[in-house]
Amino acid sequence: MVEPKIGLEVHVQLNTSTKLFCPCPLAGLAAAEPNSLTCPTCLGHPGSKPVLNRMAVEKGIRIALALGCALQESMYFSRKTYFYPDMSKNFQITQYEIPLGKDGGLEITDAQGRKKTIRITRIHIEEDPAKLVHAGGHLESATHVLADYNRSGVPLCEIVTAPDFQTPKETRVFLQKLRSILDYIGVFDVGAAIKADANVSIDGGSRVEIKNVTGFVEVEKALADEIMRQKWLADDGKPVERETRAWVAEKRTTLPLRKKESEEDYGYIFEPDLTRINLAVALVNKAAKGMPELPHQKFERYRREYGINSELAASIVTDLDVALLFEQLVRSQPKLAASWINILKKTLYFNGLELRQTKLSVDTFSKLLELVGKGRVTSRGGELMLRELVLDASRFDELAAKYSKSEIDIGKLAEEVLKDNKKAVADYKTGSRKALQFLVGELVKKSGGRVDARSASKELEKELG
Ligand SMILES: [Zn+2]
Repeated sequence: MVEPKIGLEVHVQLNTSTKLFCPCPLAGLAAAEPNSLTCPTCLGHPGSKPVLNRMAVEKGIRIALALGCALQESMYFSRKTYFYPDMSKNFQITQYEIPLGKDGGLEITDAQGRKKTIRITRIHIEEDPAKLVHAGGHLESATHVLADYNRSGVPLCEIVTAPDFQTPKETRVFLQKLRSILDYIGVFDVGAAIKADANVSIDGGSRVEIKNVTGFVEVEKALADEIMRQKWLADDGKPVERETRAWVAEKRTTLPLRKKESEEDYGYIFEPDLTRINLAVALVNKAAKGMPELPHQKFERYRREYGINSELAASIVTDLDVALLFEQLVRSQPKLAASWINILKKTLYFNGLELRQTKLSVDTFSKLLELVGKGRVTSRGGELMLRELVLDASRFDELAAKYSKSEIDIGKLAEEVLKDNKKAVADYKTGSRKALQFLVGELVKKSGGRVDARSASKELEKELG
Protein backbone atom coordinates (compact mmCIF):
# COMPACT_ATOMS: atom_id res chain seq x y z
CA MET A 1 0.00 0.00 0.00
CA VAL A 2 1.08 3.55 -0.71
CA GLU A 3 1.47 5.60 2.48
CA PRO A 4 -1.56 7.73 3.36
CA LYS A 5 -1.41 11.39 2.42
CA ILE A 6 -2.53 13.67 5.20
CA GLY A 7 -2.89 17.45 5.34
CA LEU A 8 -4.05 19.75 8.11
CA GLU A 9 -5.87 23.04 8.40
CA VAL A 10 -5.14 24.27 11.88
CA HIS A 11 -7.29 26.93 13.53
CA VAL A 12 -5.64 28.98 16.20
CA GLN A 13 -7.63 31.43 18.28
CA LEU A 14 -5.58 34.63 18.53
CA ASN A 15 -5.39 36.10 22.04
CA THR A 16 -6.37 39.66 21.18
CA SER A 17 -8.46 41.62 23.65
CA THR A 18 -11.35 42.20 21.24
CA LYS A 19 -12.98 40.39 18.31
CA LEU A 20 -11.63 40.62 14.76
CA PHE A 21 -14.01 43.27 13.37
CA CYS A 22 -15.79 44.79 16.37
CA PRO A 23 -15.02 45.96 19.92
CA CYS A 24 -16.71 43.01 21.68
CA PRO A 25 -14.35 41.67 24.35
CA LEU A 26 -12.87 38.16 24.32
CA ALA A 27 -12.17 38.02 28.05
CA GLY A 28 -14.52 35.69 29.88
CA LEU A 29 -16.00 34.43 26.64
CA ALA A 30 -15.93 30.77 27.61
CA ALA A 31 -18.02 31.34 30.74
CA ALA A 32 -20.30 34.10 29.42
CA GLU A 33 -24.08 33.76 29.04
CA PRO A 34 -24.92 32.75 25.46
CA ASN A 35 -25.31 35.77 23.14
CA SER A 36 -24.20 38.26 25.80
CA LEU A 37 -20.94 39.34 24.11
CA THR A 38 -22.36 40.57 20.82
CA CYS A 39 -22.98 43.78 18.87
CA PRO A 40 -24.61 44.66 15.52
CA THR A 41 -21.36 43.85 13.65
CA CYS A 42 -20.78 40.34 14.99
CA LEU A 43 -24.52 39.64 14.75
CA GLY A 44 -24.34 40.66 11.09
CA HIS A 45 -27.02 43.36 11.28
CA PRO A 46 -27.64 45.31 8.06
CA GLY A 47 -25.63 48.51 7.92
CA SER A 48 -22.93 47.36 10.34
CA LYS A 49 -19.35 47.65 9.08
CA PRO A 50 -16.31 45.61 10.03
CA VAL A 51 -13.22 47.44 11.35
CA LEU A 52 -10.05 45.34 11.27
CA ASN A 53 -8.32 44.61 14.59
CA ARG A 54 -4.70 45.66 14.06
CA MET A 55 -3.44 43.46 16.88
CA ALA A 56 -4.83 40.38 15.13
CA VAL A 57 -2.84 41.26 12.00
CA GLU A 58 0.30 41.78 14.05
CA LYS A 59 -0.11 38.38 15.74
CA GLY A 60 -0.80 36.78 12.37
CA ILE A 61 2.43 38.28 11.03
CA ARG A 62 4.33 36.81 13.97
CA ILE A 63 2.96 33.35 13.19
CA ALA A 64 3.89 33.77 9.53
CA LEU A 65 7.44 34.84 10.46
CA ALA A 66 7.88 32.01 12.97
CA LEU A 67 6.84 29.46 10.33
CA GLY A 68 9.12 30.90 7.69
CA CYS A 69 6.31 32.15 5.44
CA ALA A 70 6.76 34.80 2.79
CA LEU A 71 4.65 37.83 3.73
CA GLN A 72 2.56 39.52 1.09
CA GLU A 73 3.06 43.23 0.51
CA SER A 74 -0.64 43.72 0.80
CA MET A 75 -3.55 41.46 1.53
CA TYR A 76 -7.28 41.35 1.11
CA PHE A 77 -10.24 39.90 2.91
CA SER A 78 -12.92 37.99 1.05
CA ARG A 79 -16.49 36.92 1.65
CA LYS A 80 -17.01 33.20 1.68
CA THR A 81 -20.68 32.80 0.91
CA TYR A 82 -22.73 30.07 2.45
CA PHE A 83 -26.08 29.64 4.13
CA TYR A 84 -25.94 28.24 7.63
CA PRO A 85 -27.31 29.45 10.96
CA ASP A 86 -23.84 29.90 12.47
CA MET A 87 -23.24 32.87 10.12
CA SER A 88 -26.12 35.29 10.22
CA LYS A 89 -24.90 37.52 7.38
CA ASN A 90 -24.63 34.47 5.10
CA PHE A 91 -20.93 34.94 4.50
CA GLN A 92 -17.78 34.58 6.55
CA ILE A 93 -15.07 37.20 6.25
CA THR A 94 -11.87 35.29 5.54
CA GLN A 95 -8.90 35.46 3.20
CA TYR A 96 -8.83 33.48 0.01
CA GLU A 97 -7.11 34.91 -3.05
CA ILE A 98 -4.36 36.82 -1.24
CA PRO A 99 -3.64 35.54 2.27
CA LEU A 100 -1.32 37.00 4.88
CA GLY A 101 1.53 34.55 4.32
CA LYS A 102 2.54 31.76 1.95
CA ASP A 103 5.12 29.01 1.46
CA GLY A 104 6.60 28.31 4.88
CA GLY A 105 7.50 25.08 6.63
CA LEU A 106 8.01 23.35 9.94
CA GLU A 107 10.53 20.58 10.50
CA ILE A 108 9.50 17.47 12.42
CA THR A 109 11.11 14.12 13.16
CA ASP A 110 9.33 11.07 11.72
CA ALA A 111 8.98 7.61 13.31
CA GLN A 112 12.34 6.52 11.87
CA GLY A 113 14.03 9.51 13.48
CA ARG A 114 14.50 11.28 10.14
CA LYS A 115 13.95 15.01 9.81
CA LYS A 116 11.25 16.07 7.41
CA THR A 117 9.74 19.42 6.61
CA ILE A 118 5.99 19.83 6.53
CA ARG A 119 5.27 22.54 4.00
CA ILE A 120 2.93 25.33 5.08
CA THR A 121 1.08 26.43 1.96
CA ARG A 122 -0.69 29.44 3.46
CA ILE A 123 -1.61 31.32 6.61
CA HIS A 124 -4.64 33.53 6.77
CA ILE A 125 -6.84 35.41 9.22
CA GLU A 126 -10.59 34.90 9.47
CA GLU A 127 -13.53 35.31 11.79
CA ASP A 128 -14.98 32.40 13.72
CA PRO A 129 -18.67 31.70 13.15
CA ALA A 130 -21.19 31.28 15.96
CA LYS A 131 -21.25 28.15 18.04
CA LEU A 132 -24.07 25.73 17.26
CA VAL A 133 -25.18 23.40 19.99
CA HIS A 134 -26.92 20.26 18.78
CA ALA A 135 -29.31 19.45 21.59
CA GLY A 136 -30.89 16.11 22.30
CA GLY A 137 -28.47 13.91 20.31
CA HIS A 138 -25.61 13.81 17.81
CA LEU A 139 -25.94 15.67 14.49
CA GLU A 140 -29.02 14.46 12.64
CA SER A 141 -30.43 12.69 15.69
CA ALA A 142 -30.52 16.08 17.50
CA THR A 143 -33.98 17.43 18.18
CA HIS A 144 -33.01 21.09 17.87
CA VAL A 145 -30.04 23.39 17.40
CA LEU A 146 -29.10 26.42 19.53
CA ALA A 147 -26.93 29.27 18.23
CA ASP A 148 -24.57 31.25 20.45
CA TYR A 149 -23.12 34.30 18.68
CA ASN A 150 -20.55 35.02 21.41
CA ARG A 151 -18.01 33.17 19.29
CA SER A 152 -19.04 34.98 16.12
CA GLY A 153 -16.17 37.27 15.09
CA VAL A 154 -13.49 35.71 17.31
CA PRO A 155 -10.15 36.12 15.45
CA LEU A 156 -8.68 32.93 14.07
CA CYS A 157 -5.48 32.27 12.23
CA GLU A 158 -5.67 29.33 9.87
CA ILE A 159 -2.48 27.46 9.07
CA VAL A 160 -2.77 25.18 6.05
CA THR A 161 -0.22 22.45 5.37
CA ALA A 162 0.55 20.53 2.20
CA PRO A 163 -0.45 16.82 2.35
CA ASP A 164 3.02 15.96 3.67
CA PHE A 165 2.15 13.76 6.66
CA GLN A 166 2.32 10.01 6.15
CA THR A 167 1.07 8.82 9.52
CA PRO A 168 -1.43 10.15 12.09
CA LYS A 169 1.39 10.25 14.62
CA GLU A 170 3.30 12.77 12.53
CA THR A 171 0.36 15.16 12.82
CA ARG A 172 0.57 14.96 16.61
CA VAL A 173 4.31 15.67 16.57
CA PHE A 174 3.67 18.64 14.24
CA LEU A 175 0.82 20.05 16.33
CA GLN A 176 2.81 19.75 19.55
CA LYS A 177 5.70 21.60 17.98
CA LEU A 178 3.39 24.21 16.47
CA ARG A 179 1.70 24.73 19.80
CA SER A 180 4.95 25.32 21.58
CA ILE A 181 5.95 27.91 18.94
CA LEU A 182 2.60 29.70 19.33
CA ASP A 183 3.12 29.71 23.07
CA TYR A 184 6.62 31.19 22.67
CA ILE A 185 5.45 34.02 20.42
CA GLY A 186 2.52 34.83 22.70
CA VAL A 187 -0.27 34.78 20.15
CA PHE A 188 -2.36 32.05 21.65
CA ASP A 189 -4.17 31.43 24.93
CA VAL A 190 -2.37 28.62 26.70
CA GLY A 191 -5.65 27.31 28.04
CA ALA A 192 -7.29 27.17 24.59
CA ALA A 193 -7.26 24.01 22.51
CA ILE A 194 -5.98 23.86 18.96
CA LYS A 195 -8.65 22.84 16.46
CA ALA A 196 -7.96 21.29 13.11
CA ASP A 197 -9.61 19.94 10.01
CA ALA A 198 -7.68 16.96 8.68
CA ASN A 199 -7.81 15.58 5.16
CA VAL A 200 -6.65 12.13 4.23
CA SER A 201 -6.50 9.85 1.22
CA ILE A 202 -4.98 6.41 0.69
CA ASP A 203 -3.65 4.76 -2.43
CA GLY A 204 -4.29 7.88 -4.47
CA GLY A 205 -8.03 7.64 -3.74
CA SER A 206 -10.51 10.40 -2.97
CA ARG A 207 -9.72 12.89 -0.27
CA VAL A 208 -11.90 12.86 2.82
CA GLU A 209 -11.98 15.82 5.14
CA ILE A 210 -12.60 15.40 8.88
CA LYS A 211 -13.98 18.63 10.27
CA ASN A 212 -13.36 20.41 13.50
CA VAL A 213 -11.33 18.06 15.66
CA THR A 214 -10.24 19.50 19.01
CA GLY A 215 -6.77 18.80 20.39
CA PHE A 216 -3.83 16.93 18.89
CA VAL A 217 -4.53 13.58 20.52
CA GLU A 218 -8.01 13.61 18.96
CA VAL A 219 -6.61 14.55 15.54
CA GLU A 220 -4.34 11.52 15.66
CA LYS A 221 -7.20 9.23 16.74
CA ALA A 222 -9.63 10.59 14.14
CA LEU A 223 -7.09 10.07 11.36
CA ALA A 224 -6.25 6.54 12.48
CA ASP A 225 -9.95 5.68 12.50
CA GLU A 226 -10.56 7.25 9.08
CA ILE A 227 -7.57 5.46 7.49
CA MET A 228 -8.92 2.18 8.84
CA ARG A 229 -12.37 2.93 7.35
CA GLN A 230 -10.83 3.71 3.95
CA LYS A 231 -8.78 0.49 4.05
CA TRP A 232 -11.87 -1.59 4.82
CA LEU A 233 -13.71 0.01 1.89
CA ALA A 234 -10.75 -0.76 -0.37
CA ASP A 235 -10.65 -4.38 0.84
CA ASP A 236 -14.35 -4.70 -0.05
CA GLY A 237 -13.63 -3.24 -3.48
CA LYS A 238 -15.76 -0.17 -2.73
CA PRO A 239 -14.69 3.35 -3.69
CA VAL A 240 -13.93 6.03 -1.08
CA GLU A 241 -16.26 8.96 -1.69
CA ARG A 242 -15.01 12.53 -1.61
CA GLU A 243 -16.83 13.92 1.37
CA THR A 244 -16.66 15.80 4.64
CA ARG A 245 -17.02 13.82 7.86
CA ALA A 246 -17.37 14.74 11.51
CA TRP A 247 -15.30 13.19 14.30
CA VAL A 248 -17.51 12.06 17.17
CA ALA A 249 -14.98 11.76 20.00
CA GLU A 250 -17.31 9.93 22.39
CA LYS A 251 -18.04 7.24 19.81
CA ARG A 252 -14.43 7.25 18.55
CA THR A 253 -15.59 7.27 14.96
CA THR A 254 -16.20 9.61 12.03
CA LEU A 255 -19.70 10.13 10.62
CA PRO A 256 -20.63 11.55 7.20
CA LEU A 257 -21.53 15.27 7.22
CA ARG A 258 -21.87 16.23 3.56
CA LYS A 259 -20.50 15.52 0.13
CA LYS A 260 -17.47 17.71 -0.19
CA GLU A 261 -17.94 20.91 -2.11
CA SER A 262 -14.93 22.52 -3.74
CA GLU A 263 -13.57 25.91 -2.63
CA GLU A 264 -14.87 27.46 -5.87
CA ASP A 265 -18.42 26.55 -4.85
CA TYR A 266 -18.29 29.16 -2.11
CA GLY A 267 -18.30 32.00 -4.63
CA TYR A 268 -15.63 34.08 -2.95
CA ILE A 269 -15.72 37.82 -3.60
CA PHE A 270 -13.46 40.52 -2.24
CA GLU A 271 -14.87 42.12 0.92
CA PRO A 272 -15.81 45.67 -0.15
CA ASP A 273 -15.92 47.03 3.42
CA LEU A 274 -12.25 46.23 4.01
CA THR A 275 -10.10 47.49 1.20
CA ARG A 276 -6.52 46.54 0.44
CA ILE A 277 -4.45 46.23 3.60
CA ASN A 278 -0.80 47.15 3.18
CA LEU A 279 1.46 45.11 5.34
CA ALA A 280 3.69 48.12 5.82
CA VAL A 281 7.35 47.58 6.57
CA ALA A 282 6.84 49.34 9.90
CA LEU A 283 4.13 46.89 10.95
CA VAL A 284 6.17 43.85 9.94
CA ASN A 285 9.25 45.25 11.70
CA LYS A 286 7.24 45.86 14.84
CA ALA A 287 5.99 42.27 14.80
CA ALA A 288 9.48 40.96 14.07
CA LYS A 289 10.91 42.97 16.94
CA GLY A 290 8.47 41.38 19.35
CA MET A 291 9.64 37.91 18.28
CA PRO A 292 11.34 36.08 21.12
CA GLU A 293 13.92 33.33 20.81
CA LEU A 294 12.09 30.37 19.21
CA PRO A 295 12.22 26.73 20.40
CA HIS A 296 14.75 25.60 17.76
CA GLN A 297 16.99 28.57 18.57
CA LYS A 298 16.86 27.78 22.29
CA PHE A 299 17.65 24.15 21.44
CA GLU A 300 20.83 25.14 19.59
CA ARG A 301 21.88 27.52 22.35
CA TYR A 302 21.34 24.97 25.15
CA ARG A 303 23.47 22.45 23.26
CA ARG A 304 26.19 25.05 22.70
CA GLU A 305 26.19 26.91 26.02
CA TYR A 306 25.32 24.18 28.48
CA GLY A 307 26.50 21.11 26.59
CA ILE A 308 23.31 19.16 27.30
CA ASN A 309 22.36 16.26 25.05
CA SER A 310 19.92 16.83 22.23
CA GLU A 311 17.18 14.62 23.64
CA LEU A 312 17.07 16.57 26.89
CA ALA A 313 17.45 19.94 25.14
CA ALA A 314 14.53 19.06 22.85
CA SER A 315 12.44 18.00 25.82
CA ILE A 316 13.14 21.23 27.74
CA VAL A 317 12.38 23.63 24.88
CA THR A 318 9.00 22.02 24.11
CA ASP A 319 7.49 23.79 27.09
CA LEU A 320 8.21 27.50 27.43
CA ASP A 321 7.62 27.55 31.20
CA VAL A 322 10.04 24.68 31.72
CA ALA A 323 12.62 26.36 29.48
CA LEU A 324 12.36 29.62 31.42
CA LEU A 325 12.70 27.76 34.73
CA PHE A 326 15.77 25.95 33.40
CA GLU A 327 17.39 29.22 32.31
CA GLN A 328 17.00 30.68 35.79
CA LEU A 329 18.20 27.54 37.58
CA VAL A 330 21.23 27.03 35.42
CA ARG A 331 22.69 30.28 36.77
CA SER A 332 22.66 29.20 40.41
CA GLN A 333 22.92 25.42 39.97
CA PRO A 334 24.81 24.82 36.73
CA LYS A 335 25.70 21.23 37.65
CA LEU A 336 22.27 20.08 38.78
CA ALA A 337 19.87 22.14 36.63
CA ALA A 338 19.69 19.93 33.54
CA SER A 339 19.29 16.58 35.29
CA TRP A 340 16.74 17.98 37.73
CA ILE A 341 14.70 19.59 34.97
CA ASN A 342 14.58 16.11 33.46
CA ILE A 343 13.32 14.68 36.77
CA LEU A 344 10.79 17.50 36.99
CA LYS A 345 9.47 16.76 33.49
CA LYS A 346 9.03 13.09 34.34
CA THR A 347 7.27 13.94 37.60
CA LEU A 348 4.91 16.33 35.80
CA TYR A 349 4.23 13.75 33.12
CA PHE A 350 3.49 11.09 35.73
CA ASN A 351 0.92 13.37 37.34
CA GLY A 352 -0.54 14.57 34.03
CA LEU A 353 0.34 18.13 35.00
CA GLU A 354 1.88 21.09 33.23
CA LEU A 355 4.33 23.28 35.13
CA ARG A 356 1.96 26.24 35.02
CA GLN A 357 -0.68 24.21 36.83
CA THR A 358 1.60 23.67 39.81
CA LYS A 359 2.58 26.44 42.20
CA LEU A 360 6.22 25.44 41.95
CA SER A 361 8.27 28.65 41.74
CA VAL A 362 11.88 29.11 40.66
CA ASP A 363 12.63 29.91 44.27
CA THR A 364 11.23 26.69 45.67
CA PHE A 365 12.89 24.62 42.99
CA SER A 366 16.29 26.22 43.56
CA LYS A 367 15.95 25.73 47.32
CA LEU A 368 15.35 22.04 46.65
CA LEU A 369 18.45 21.83 44.46
CA GLU A 370 20.45 23.60 47.11
CA LEU A 371 19.48 20.94 49.68
CA VAL A 372 20.54 18.22 47.26
CA GLY A 373 23.69 20.09 46.17
CA LYS A 374 24.86 20.53 49.77
CA GLY A 375 24.09 16.92 50.59
CA ARG A 376 21.43 17.74 53.18
CA VAL A 377 18.92 15.66 51.26
CA THR A 378 19.79 12.61 49.14
CA SER A 379 18.96 12.60 45.42
CA ARG A 380 16.30 10.03 46.14
CA GLY A 381 14.90 12.16 48.96
CA GLY A 382 14.89 15.16 46.62
CA GLU A 383 12.90 13.20 44.05
CA LEU A 384 10.38 12.16 46.68
CA MET A 385 10.10 15.79 47.82
CA LEU A 386 9.53 16.91 44.25
CA ARG A 387 6.71 14.40 43.81
CA GLU A 388 4.88 16.05 46.68
CA LEU A 389 5.89 19.61 45.76
CA VAL A 390 4.30 19.49 42.28
CA LEU A 391 1.02 18.74 44.05
CA ASP A 392 1.47 21.28 46.85
CA ALA A 393 4.48 23.61 46.74
CA SER A 394 3.55 25.28 50.02
CA ARG A 395 4.76 22.19 51.93
CA PHE A 396 8.43 22.87 51.19
CA ASP A 397 9.62 23.45 54.77
CA GLU A 398 7.70 20.50 56.15
CA LEU A 399 9.05 18.20 53.42
CA ALA A 400 12.60 19.53 53.78
CA ALA A 401 12.49 18.58 57.47
CA LYS A 402 10.99 15.17 56.71
CA TYR A 403 13.64 14.24 54.14
CA SER A 404 16.59 15.93 55.82
CA LYS A 405 19.49 13.55 56.57
CA SER A 406 20.30 15.28 59.85
CA GLU A 407 16.87 14.34 61.19
CA ILE A 408 17.64 10.67 61.09
CA ASP A 409 19.50 8.22 63.34
CA ILE A 410 21.03 6.04 60.68
CA GLY A 411 22.73 3.72 63.21
CA LYS A 412 19.42 2.89 64.86
CA LEU A 413 17.74 2.21 61.51
CA ALA A 414 20.63 -0.04 60.45
CA GLU A 415 20.30 -2.04 63.66
CA GLU A 416 16.60 -2.53 63.01
CA VAL A 417 17.22 -3.65 59.45
CA LEU A 418 19.78 -6.21 60.60
CA LYS A 419 17.43 -7.51 63.28
CA ASP A 420 14.55 -7.90 60.80
CA ASN A 421 16.64 -9.67 58.16
CA LYS A 422 18.50 -12.42 59.93
CA LYS A 423 18.76 -14.64 56.86
CA ALA A 424 20.43 -11.93 54.77
CA VAL A 425 22.84 -11.25 57.62
CA ALA A 426 23.76 -14.95 57.75
CA ASP A 427 24.24 -14.98 53.95
CA TYR A 428 26.43 -11.91 54.20
CA LYS A 429 28.62 -13.67 56.76
CA THR A 430 29.20 -16.44 54.21
CA GLY A 431 30.49 -13.77 51.81
CA SER A 432 27.38 -12.91 49.76
CA ARG A 433 27.59 -9.44 48.16
CA LYS A 434 23.98 -9.82 47.08
CA ALA A 435 22.91 -10.05 50.70
CA LEU A 436 24.61 -6.72 51.40
CA GLN A 437 22.89 -5.10 48.43
CA PHE A 438 19.58 -6.39 49.72
CA LEU A 439 20.22 -4.96 53.19
CA VAL A 440 21.26 -1.60 51.68
CA GLY A 441 17.98 -1.54 49.75
CA GLU A 442 16.02 -2.28 52.93
CA LEU A 443 17.78 0.51 54.81
CA VAL A 444 17.20 3.10 52.04
CA LYS A 445 13.54 2.06 51.94
CA LYS A 446 13.18 2.21 55.72
CA SER A 447 14.67 5.70 55.81
CA GLY A 448 12.06 6.90 53.32
CA GLY A 449 14.79 8.01 50.92
CA ARG A 450 16.64 10.10 53.48
CA VAL A 451 19.66 7.80 53.44
CA ASP A 452 21.43 7.18 50.13
CA ALA A 453 22.86 3.80 49.11
CA ARG A 454 26.45 4.81 49.80
CA SER A 455 25.92 5.91 53.40
CA ALA A 456 23.64 2.91 53.96
CA SER A 457 26.33 0.50 52.77
CA LYS A 458 28.98 2.21 54.92
CA GLU A 459 26.80 2.09 58.02
CA LEU A 460 25.78 -1.55 57.53
CA GLU A 461 29.32 -2.71 56.95
CA LYS A 462 30.31 -0.95 60.15
CA GLU A 463 27.49 -2.63 62.10
CA LEU A 464 28.22 -6.04 60.59
CA GLY A 465 31.87 -5.66 61.56
ZN1 LIG B 1 -19.35 42.44 18.29
